[in-house]
Amino acid sequence: MANPTHRHTRSRRDKRRANWKGQIPNIITCPECHEPTLPHRVCGNCGSYKKKKILEVIEKES
Ligand SMILES: [Zn+2]
Repeated sequence: MANPTHRHTRSRRDKRRANWKGQIPNIITCPECHEPTLPHRVCGNCGSYKKKKILEVIEKES
């Protein structure tokens, strides 16, 4: 098994970890209802994908 030969300093470790970023999900607007949705997903608001309605969205009673 490959093992690290030398221990890196705290500074070096923390500099490496400083480049970790949270993943920000890409958000597009739905071409049908213009609500913000995730790309390559069926729209949660109107149930359409690629301008085709493929899911029926049940209206929530509030
Ligand atoms: Zn939509």
